[in-house]
Amino acid sequence: QARLLQPLMGLMRVALDLQTSSAIFARIFEYLDLHPMIEDAPGAITVSKAPGPLGQIAFEDVVFRYPDAAEGVRPTLGGISFTAEPGQHVAFVGPSGAGKTTVLYLAPRLYEASGGSVLFAGEDVRRLTQESIIDAVGIVSQETYLFHATIRENLRYAKPEATDAEIEAACVAANIHHIITSFEDGYDTVVGERGYRLSGGEKQRIAIARVLLKDPPVLLLDEATSALDTVSERVVQEALETASHGRTTLSIAHRLSTVIGADVIHVIEAGRIVESGTHSELLALGGLYSELAAEQLAASKILEVEEAQPRAA
Ligand code: ADP
Ligand code: MG
Repeated sequence: QARLLQPLMGLMRVALDLQTSSAIFARIFEYLDLHPMIEDAPGAITVSKAPGPLGQIAFEDVVFRYPDAAEGVRPTLGGISFTAEPGQHVAFVGPSGAGKTTVLYLAPRLYEASGGSVLFAGEDVRRLTQESIIDAVGIVSQETYLFHATIRENLRYAKPEATDAEIEAACVAANIHHIITSFEDGYDTVVGERGYRLSGGEKQRIAIARVLLKDPPVLLLDEATSALDTVSERVVQEALETASHGRTTLSIAHRLSTVIGADVIHVIEAGRIVESGTHSELLALGGLYSELAAEQLAASKILEVEEAQPRAA
């Protein structure tokens, strides 16, 4: 059972990444003759019937251990509590391995909490159908899954009934339309394996266009811009701001510059929230966040000096 966990989680991640409709999601499992690892509870309800506001996410003392973790090791998450109100931008920062990605994946129940509860629209995720949760969430991460198919088809996974005009409007908003139209075959360019290779930043903007087409109330951003050069980062960042407007956004940022505007920033260290506040509140606190900020400032200064004085060959 445990051995099956990883590929299935990967598959759910792909379903989420594609921003697929629940119908396609269900068909992937059917096709592969698999059952989602997490079965719906008897009498599970859809997110639309949940008692709380759509887009509200709350963690109540969530503890999490990976099923394959060694006995006796401290849990990956040691009791995480926070609430994201509809439309809020809640950011997570902290050292690598602290548990940020794990928090993000517990929100749509890609992993099952070992203790405490995750509430989605005021309802425990264990009493909601998995499909309706997947339908309510969009994700942009460092990996964007593209099928060997045209760009238009790749976008249509997010909304099968979308018109060409809707697809193009989403791509304009995601800052990728001008790139696509510069290709000889435009939206009919075949991408993915053995197709045209899009750059990391281009793929992320395809993911953002998918989110805009899907139009979910919740958006998850996992270090979405960390792999990009500064110019692409700025373009993707602008598109992300468009995409997160009016949605509850849980984001993980590698560069603090992308979380400065968040409503709340939670600093995670070794599976626990150690500081919370806005950017300026956390700087004033003089703790881990201000240390991370100082480190990044120093790093960017070094970069500036290197750019100004290119090393002799
Ligand atoms: P972050 O995103 O803050 O870098 P993660 O949430 O990815 O941290 O990981 C937190 C901890 O959980 C790390 O120690 C990592 O090694 C461990 N971990 C992550 N994914 C798995 C997994 N699939 N199985 C077991 N341990 C994992
Ligand atoms: Mg991570």
